[in-house]
Amino acid sequence: MPLRLFDTHTHFDVPDFDPDREHLASQAKVAGVEALVLIGFVASRFPDLLKTQQFINHLSEAPKAYLAPGLHPFYIQQHRLEHLQQLELLLQQRDCIAVGEIGLDTFLAEHKQPELFAKQQDYFQQQLELALYYQKPVLLHIRKAHAESLALLKKQKFQFGGIAHAFSGGVEEAKAFIKMGFKIGITGQITNPNAKKLHRVVQEIGAEHLVLETDCPDMTPLCCQVSTQQRTRNTPANLPYVLKGLAQTLQCDETDLAEQLWQNTQQCLRL
Ligand SMILES: [Zn+2]
Repeated sequence: MPLRLFDTHTHFDVPDFDPDREHLASQAKVAGVEALVLIGFVASRFPDLLKTQQFINHLSEAPKAYLAPGLHPFYIQQHRLEHLQQLELLLQQRDCIAVGEIGLDTFLAEHKQPELFAKQQDYFQQQLELALYYQKPVLLHIRKAHAESLALLKKQKFQFGGIAHAFSGGVEEAKAFIKMGFKIGITGQITNPNAKKLHRVVQEIGAEHLVLETDCPDMTPLCCQVSTQQRTRNTPANLPYVLKGLAQTLQCDETDLAEQLWQNTQQCLRL
C-alpha cells in the first residue's frame, strides 16, 4: 500500500507560497500527503485562509485541505474582542476541523509581562470555550508555558482533545497532554540529531500518541535546508522527511509507522 500522510499543521496560506502553491500542492500529493490542515493565527488572515482552502480543494491533484481557524498566542498584541466574534462566525458557517492554533507562549521576555500573559490566558480560555461549545478539538501552540496550559485545559474540563503542535516539552508534560486526550505533533525538528529532548519524548511515549506536521513555511527538516545562513522555506511536500526522521528515532518500519500516524490523526481530528 502506498504511504498516506497527513500534514496536521501548515501555514500553506501565507504569501511565501503565492508564486507556486499549485505546484507544491501537486508535489505534496505525489509524495503521499493526502490531507493537510490550514491553521489560523490572526483574524486579518481568515479570508485568505478560506480562499486557500477553496483553491486547494478545487485542484485536481492536491491534498485535501481542512480548516482550523484560531488566534495564536504569539500575536497576542494584535487580537481584539471582535476577532473572537469573527472566529465564532467561522465555526458557525464553515466546516472547521478544529480551533487553532491557540495556547500560551512565553518564549519572548515581553510575553511574560503580567498584562500580556493575562491577555494570552484570557484569549486561550475564550477559545477553549468556543471549542467546547462547538465540540471541536484544539491545535495547541505552547512554548515555555506547559504547566499553565495544562492548568487551563483542566479548569475548562476540556474533553475534545486535539494536537499539541511542534511539541517542545518534556516526557512528563507529554504524558499529561496525552492523558487529556491529545496527540503530540512532530515537525522536522525530529531530523535534528541535537534535539535530544524531543528524541527522548518520542521514544518514551511511542508511535501511538504521535502525529506528523511540517509547520511550513517554518521547521524545515535538516536535509532540506540548502543554506546555514538563510531560512529555507519548508513545504508540505517535505512531510516524508519528517516521517523518515521519526522512523529512525523510533527504529521502526516507515510504512507501518505512516499507517499508525494516519490512524492517530483520523482519531484525534474526529474524521
Ligand atoms: Zn503554526
